[in-house]
Amino acid sequence: MVWARTGCPYCGVGCGLLARVEEGRVTKVKGDADHPSSRGEVCMKAVCLPPTVVNQGRATRALLRTHRAASFQPVALDLAIAHAARELRRIVETHGPDAIAFYGSGQLGTEDYYALTKLVKGFLGTDNLDTNSRLCMASAAAGYKSAFGADAPPGCYDDIDQADVFLLIGANVADCHPILFRRIAKRSAADERVRVIVVDPRRTETCDLAHSHLPIRPGTDVALLNAMLRLAIVEGHTDKEFIAARTEGFEAARLAVEPWTPEAAAELCGIPAKAIEGAARVFSRSRRAMVLWSMGVNQSAHGTAKNQAIMNLCLATGNVGRPGSGPLSLTGQPNAMGGREVGGLTGLLPGHRHVSSAADRAFIAERWGVPVARIPSRAGKTATEIFAGLEDGNVRAVWILATNPAASLPNVEAARRALRRAELVVVQDAFFPTDSASLAHVVLPAAGWAEKDCAMTNSERFVTLSRKLVAAPGDALPDWQLLARLAHELGFGEHFAWQSAAEVFDEFRRLSAGTSADLSGITHARLAAGPLQWPCPSETSPGEARRYQERFATPNGRARFAAVQPRPPAEPATREFPLVLTSGRLKSHWHTRSRTRWSKNLEGRAPEPVLEMNPHDAQRVGVVDGGFAEAQSRRGETITQVRVTPEIAQGTVFLPFHWTRQDGFLKPAHNLTHGAIDPISKQPELKHCAVRVRALPTPEDLVPADARSASPERGAP
Ligand code: SF4
Repeated sequence: MVWARTGCPYCGVGCGLLARVEEGRVTKVKGDADHPSSRGEVCMKAVCLPPTVVNQGRATRALLRTHRAASFQPVALDLAIAHAARELRRIVETHGPDAIAFYGSGQLGTEDYYALTKLVKGFLGTDNLDTNSRLCMASAAAGYKSAFGADAPPGCYDDIDQADVFLLIGANVADCHPILFRRIAKRSAADERVRVIVVDPRRTETCDLAHSHLPIRPGTDVALLNAMLRLAIVEGHTDKEFIAARTEGFEAARLAVEPWTPEAAAELCGIPAKAIEGAARVFSRSRRAMVLWSMGVNQSAHGTAKNQAIMNLCLATGNVGRPGSGPLSLTGQPNAMGGREVGGLTGLLPGHRHVSSAADRAFIAERWGVPVARIPSRAGKTATEIFAGLEDGNVRAVWILATNPAASLPNVEAARRALRRAELVVVQDAFFPTDSASLAHVVLPAAGWAEKDCAMTNSERFVTLSRKLVAAPGDALPDWQLLARLAHELGFGEHFAWQSAAEVFDEFRRLSAGTSADLSGITHARLAAGPLQWPCPSETSPGEARRYQERFATPNGRARFAAVQPRPPAEPATREFPLVLTSGRLKSHWHTRSRTRWSKNLEGRAPEPVLEMNPHDAQRVGVVDGGFAEAQSRRGETITQVRVTPEIAQGTVFLPFHWTRQDGFLKPAHNLTHGAIDPISKQPELKHCAVRVRALPTPEDLVPADARSASPERGAP
C-alpha cells in the first residue's frame, strides 16, 4: 500500500500528512510521523479530507456571463481568460492601473502567490493586491515588525516542549489549532510545575488545560498586558540585563504601563485584580514562558497595539530567543506566511521587501525584466479598502482567488453591494457555487488540495511540499498556471513561461536571498525529502529554529518596546445594542465550509450555527436554551438557535462565522460585523460589534393554544 507524503490544507499548524491514493482517488489520510511540526499527529479535519476531494461542489469548467442578470454559460477556459484579460485591459486603459484589484487567500500555494505578485506588481502596475491574511494575521505581522524589525515569529513549536508557562490569549487552541493544543497538554501533563493561563471571554475547551482562566471583557487585552508588565517591573521580575543589552524604548513602555495597577485593569477587563496579579507573577517569574495568540488579539481595531503589548511583556521578562520562551502567533491559514514571503500582500515585494523602498523596487524590477517605473511605489488598497473602492467606484474590477469575500468579509451586505457595482468580478476557485461566485462575471476552475504541487509555510516557518496526487477535475488548473495564461493574454507570456511549480518556486527563492525571509536554500527537490524551516540561506543549510540569537532585524539590531494604551472598541455596547458579539471558528469547520461541507462527518458535528449566550443575558430577554433568537446589529440580523451557557461571559455572545447566504440569508455572522480597521495593520475588528438579541417564538408557540392541547386522535378528521 502506497502512502504519499503531503501537507494539510487547513490551518497554520501545518501538519504533515500521508495520503493513500487508490484508482485515482484519495481514500485515506493519516499523520506523517516524520513531519517535525506534527510528528504523526493529525486532527479530524485532515482525516476527513477524502470526501472533500471529489467533483461535488467543485468548479470544473470556466463560466462566463456578460451581465449579472444572465445565467452562466460554460465556455472554454482560454476563452474565459481572454474575455477577462480584455476587460482588465479596457479598465486599466480607461481608468488607470489602480482601478483594478486582486484579492487572494492564505489557501494559495507559494507558487500561486508568487505568480500573482509578479503579474500584479510587476506587469499590471498596481499594488492593489491583498488577501484574506489581512483578516487573520496582519496585526501579528505588524507587531513582529514593530518589535523585532521583521515579520516572523522568533521561536518554534519545539519551544512548547520546553516551556514552563503558557499564556494563551485570544486563541481557542483546542478548536482552531488542535495539534498544538495536544502538544501543550502533553507538556503540561509531563511536569506539574507547568502553568497554563487562558485569557478568553468564553470558557472554551482550551480552558480544560487552564490553571487560571481570565474571562476578559472583549477588546481590553492591552490593559491586562500592561498591568502584567507593570507588576513584573514593580516586583523586580524583569530581565534587566537583556533589556539593557538587546532592546530600546523600555523607559517609554515603563511610563505607559505605570497607571495600570491590577485594580485599574480589573475594572476595565472585568477580571478580579487578584487573578491579574496571579497571572502576572506566574508569567514574569518564569524564564521559559510563551505567549500564544490568534484572532482574538489580531481581529481588532487596535490589534497592532495588542501585539506590541505582547512583545513588550516577552521582551521585558527576557522571554525571547531562549528555548521554551517567546511570542508565537498561531496563523489561521495554511500559507498566510508563505504569501507574505513572496510579497503577496499590499505594500510588499518578494523577500519581505517593500514597495516604498527605491532600492527594493530597482532590485525586483531588474530581476523581473521590467522598467522600475512600472512597479508601484505606494502601498495599494487592503482587503476592506478594495471593497470600499468597488463601492465608491475607484476600483472597477476585482479578481478573487481561493476565497469567498461575499461571505467572509465583515458586514457582508456591504461587500456584496460592492461586488454588484463592479464592472468585472472574476472568481478563480476550486469550489463552486459560492456566495462570491454567484456575483461574478467570470468563474475560473482552480485545482485544489492533492491536485497540484505547492509549497506552504506554517506558523513556525516550516515549508512543506503539498503534492499532486490525483488529477484535477474538468478544466481546473493550478492557480499559477491560470495566472500565467492570463499573463500570456495580456502580452507578458515570456515572463511567465514556467514549466512546473518547482520552476516558479526556484525563481522566487533566488529573490529571497539575503532578506529577512531568506528561503534561498529551499528547493522543491529538497522539500520532496521533507519540510525545511527558514531562514535557510544555502542549499546545505538545515534551516534555523530560533531567530534573533545575536541581533534583531531592526537597523541597530535591538528589539523595540512600544508605549501602548488600551483604546475603546470601534463599536462599544450601548443601551440600544447592549451585548458584544464575538465571532469565531468551530473545530469541525473551515472558513465558509466550501470544503468541509462535503464531509458528512464534519457537517454532522455542527450542521447549523448556534448563538452562545450567558444565562443572565438570556433570562433578561426571555431566550431559552435550544430556543431561537434574532441577533441584530446596526447592519443586519441573524436568526439562529441559542445555547444558553455560563461558559460565556455576561454581556458577550458568540456566533461561528462558517455559514453563508447560500445556507440561508439570516445565518452568516458577518451580517452583523462591521468594517472598522486597525490604523497600522488595516485588520478589521471582527471580534467586537454591538448587538441586541430578542427571543423568537418556537414553532410550538405559533400553534394556537387550543390546537396544542388537542390530542392528535381527537383532532384527526
Ligand atoms: Fe490540519 Fe490544522 Fe488539523 Fe494540523 S491541526 S491536521 S494543520 S487542520
